[in-house]
Parts: sequence; C-alpha cells; structure tokens
Amino acid sequence: QKRELEKLAQKEAITIDGYKIKICVNTGDQESLNSLDAKICDGIGLFRTEFLYMNHKGYPTEEEQFAVYQTAVQKMEGKEVVIRTLDIGGDKQLDYMELPKEANPFLGYRAIRICLDRKEMFITQLKAILRASAYGSVAIMFPMIVNLEELREAKELVKEAMRRLDSLKENYDKEIKIGVMIETPSAVLLSDKLAREADFFSIGTNDLIQYTTATDRMNEKVQYLYDSCNVSVLRAVRLVAQNAHKEGIEVSICGEAASDEMLIPLWAAMKINKLSMAQAQTMKIKYIITRLSVKEQEALCGQVLEADTMEEVKKYLHSICP
Ligand code: PEP
Ligand code: MG
Repeated sequence: QKRELEKLAQKEAITIDGYKIKICVNTGDQESLNSLDAKICDGIGLFRTEFLYMNHKGYPTEEEQFAVYQTAVQKMEGKEVVIRTLDIGGDKQLDYMELPKEANPFLGYRAIRICLDRKEMFITQLKAILRASAYGSVAIMFPMIVNLEELREAKELVKEAMRRLDSLKENYDKEIKIGVMIETPSAVLLSDKLAREADFFSIGTNDLIQYTTATDRMNEKVQYLYDSCNVSVLRAVRLVAQNAHKEGIEVSICGEAASDEMLIPLWAAMKINKLSMAQAQTMKIKYIITRLSVKEQEALCGQVLEADTMEEVKKYLHSICP
C-alpha cells in the first residue's frame, strides 16, 4: 500500500485525453523548505521570499539570500524554481523597513512598489536570485504588477543586477525567465499587453479575489464575498489564460484556488499549464486530474462562466466533481 501511494505521489498529472498540467509546490518558510521533495512535483511554482526578510533583524544580505535560494534550487534537481521578489506590505510588516502607517495598506506601499522605490534593496535580491540560477533552473517573478511601466522598470533593474554580476565575473543564467503575477484587476485587463513582455504569468488568486471583489481578505465580516467562485474572478482567470496562450506563454495559478478540488476541472478546461500549491495537496490534485478529460470539461466551463450567481457556479461544479 505504501508503495502504491508513493507511486501515485510521483506520477505526472495527465488527463485521460493526454493534457499535462504541471503540479508545483509553494514554499518559502523554513518548514516547507526542509520538506521539499523534487520527486513528487514539477518544481517550485512560488517561492515566497518574505519569510527570509521577516525572520531577520535587518535586511538579509545578498550572501544570506543566495545561500537559501541555492539550497532550494539544488534540492529541485534541475526542475524549475520560480522565485518571487519581495512582496512585503499589506498584511506583512517589517519593523526595520520603517514602512509608513497607512489607512489602506493593501492599496498602498507594498510589493513591487516598494522594490522599485528602494532600488538597492531590490538589486541585492535580484543579484542573489541570479547567482542561484547558476545551479539549476530559476525564474524570477514580480508581485502586484498593475501596468507595463512597472514591468519594464523591474526588468531594467534585472539588467542592472546582471551588469554588476558581469563586472564581478559571477555566473548566472543569461536567459533567465521573467514572469508577472496577475493579482490585480488592472493586470487582468492589461494581460494582452503584459503577455508580450513577460515570459510567463502566474495568477495569484488570493489577492485577485480580494481586489476584483473589493473584499479585504482578512475581514471576517465580508468573507461571504471572498470566494473564488465569484463569476467575475473565474472570468478574469479565463481572460488571462486566453491572453497568455495567444502570445504563447505559460500561465499558472499559485493562490489557494490552485488546490481547490472543485475548481480543478475548470482549470483544466481553461488549459492552465501549471498549478502550484502546498506540498501536502499535490497527491490529491494529481489524482483528480488523472481522472478527468479536458474535452468533456470545455462545455462545462462555458456554462459556469455564464452562471448568474455563485450558488449556480457551485451547483455546476459539484455536479461534475470527479
Ligand atoms: C496570491 O495572492 O494568490 C498569492 C499567491 O500571493 P500571496 O498569497 O503571497 O499574496
Ligand atoms: Mg498575492
């Protein structure tokens, strides 16, 4: 029995009609970094780097960051590791960063906005990520992007980090892939344009639900609205997938909705290329994928996206849950 489970854990997630979905893991905190297992996944789909900064008295140095990234990259044995640049602010705070007190922190100074403002801090992180790319397959991903200007500016800073490494004769992957997290309505609506300048998309549904429905993800009083089954959210995901595929780039989901059993048929029908989740969820999701057919789910996808209410969406999804 144990052998059977092990075999299932190491299986690829391919639908009955031959469509493969990469199943990757989310990591970043020490516990999940320790338990990383390359055999049961297609790589790391989201490496949250906040933890590195949070368990620290001051900014982690380039050397300290490099050591952590390099370890994860080597553990993945050549499978891709997507490292997300610092996503601080909002619900995550750091004393030594001296961030301003804000009335609406989720709409304020956070993530890529801080990094583009504090350029040396950002370049230090980029150099550490780039150096880790010499030890395996690494990609860089920017959080909270809302327009092309931010993406272009962030890519310029990657180039600056590369120039500095060149002058030190440090090795790194010169073709490193650069992706964008789609987690704001603005990025969804500009996804046709962003797709031309990014190497991949990863949809952060945790924030995308919050910003699409204008519902604070921490506020109990309005949690009934904070739901991935909002038709608006599902339509946003479909639009992003379509725009990504038009430009021939991969699209993944790395929020909690990636491992929501009920939604897997829908993600398959939208031809999402990769789902990234907590390691403990991977086996269950692989099992579901191997039992469904994309062709059969396509009609359902159309129905769900035309539903009037969240309740209707859930009724459709329950009716086909494999
Ligand atoms: C998301 O917003 O879906 C996401 C994966 O990022 P985080 O949960 O770290 O904000
Ligand atoms: Mg997010």
